[in-house]
Amino acid sequence: MSSYLERFLAGDAEPTLPEMLSGGVRVRSMGEGLVCVEPSQPRYDLLISSGIHGNETAPIELACGLLQAILDDRLVPQARILFALGNPEAIRQGVRYLDDDLNRLFGKDPAATGQGPAAVRARILESAVRQFFSERGERWRLHYDLHTAIRGSKIEKFAIYPFPHDDAFDEAEIARLGRCGIEAVLLQSKPSPTFSYFTRRHCGAHGFTLELGKARPFGQNQAVDLRLLAAELLALISGEPALDGVGVTPTLFSVSREVIKQSDAFVLHVADDVENFTELPQGMTLADDATGSFVVDEIDARIVFPNPKVKNGLRAGLVVVPTQLPTR
Ligand code: ZN
Repeated sequence: MSSYLERFLAGDAEPTLPEMLSGGVRVRSMGEGLVCVEPSQPRYDLLISSGIHGNETAPIELACGLLQAILDDRLVPQARILFALGNPEAIRQGVRYLDDDLNRLFGKDPAATGQGPAAVRARILESAVRQFFSERGERWRLHYDLHTAIRGSKIEKFAIYPFPHDDAFDEAEIARLGRCGIEAVLLQSKPSPTFSYFTRRHCGAHGFTLELGKARPFGQNQAVDLRLLAAELLALISGEPALDGVGVTPTLFSVSREVIKQSDAFVLHVADDVENFTELPQGMTLADDATGSFVVDEIDARIVFPNPKVKNGLRAGLVVVPTQLPTR
């Protein structure tokens, strides 16, 4: 029989699932691209999401490979897990998004986002994850939202740690990201409309966005090395202790300033294909705009997510600097 992913890609919104697996593990669909597996005595709750951007296929292959191993009884989960394929139609068409970027629409007032397909999907995902995290009591909760990037990166694998408000940045979770092969973690200092910020803020989960390399079509992801992430996810799912001493110690960055595009006169003085985390020399004029110039005055500054094509008033890039966890 063909796999869950093959049937999903062929247009089956909710492929038929076995109801019960060996060891008393229940399986159910919570909607299109949403599969929940539940052992009778779960240790914790995991949300593994991929395909929020439809062309980011390596994470979809990884997540669906783990799901399929569970469905085929090759992997017995000790955790409740919701596998979420973020943007079904964009995944089937192999595009980043259709009408709007899904990862800018979470936690927003529906009146502000309209009723387009992306906004509707964001509401569906929000309600599914709220239900998943609330319906069977409280346990430790982890959410990895898996992405690959449009552009190359000087640091291939990095994570975004959503703004934790009054909570501290969690050192154990940063260490776990290191075991997943994440080389850098960007500590956010304000709210954002992303899936991982939503689960952190509204579901009590340790939510993270993981950027894992460059986006390529299905079957062409040999260059994206996800072995460490796969091993950590496998350890989490199976309840096996994680291996100590594997992975890396992530370098921490914080946002120093946002580059805001103010007018049509905006010019960003980096190449179109500049890689994320490219160093910016101190004193460099990074951008010119009708309102003036943006000069780099930070030491060790780097650029992340440069995009001069955004609408006026929006963020055209982030200037980040190395940082350390505040001592408590
Ligand atoms: Zn993405």
